[in-house]
Amino acid sequence: MPGLIIHATCVSCDAEHELRVGHGLGWAFEQHACHACRRLVSVAVAEELVSGPCGACGTQLEPWPVRAETEVIRARCPACLELTRWRVVDSDRWE
Ligand SMILES: [Zn+2]
Ligand SMILES: [Zn+2]
Repeated sequence: MPGLIIHATCVSCDAEHELRVGHGLGWAFEQHACHACRRLVSVAVAEELVSGPCGACGTQLEPWPVRAETEVIRARCPACLELTRWRVVDSDRWE
């Protein structure tokens, strides 16, 4: 099942975020945030698995609701914590 790697910037603080969307057999990408790194982390989550700590700093990740529409993503920015729009800069397909 193909998915997308999306690069988006927060319109409030200009921070750039990378998120992965899509799913495979028995797993799906879910969006999480690390409050220490102030960045979004996409985690491949299987039904019986929960997200682990941040790969960069070891802080426990927190589920982070992100609404991805066609050109606009709505979410709270992990960098500036504004609930705002993210502008999609670029997206690549992954298989
Ligand atoms: Zn921001
Ligand atoms: Zn971190």
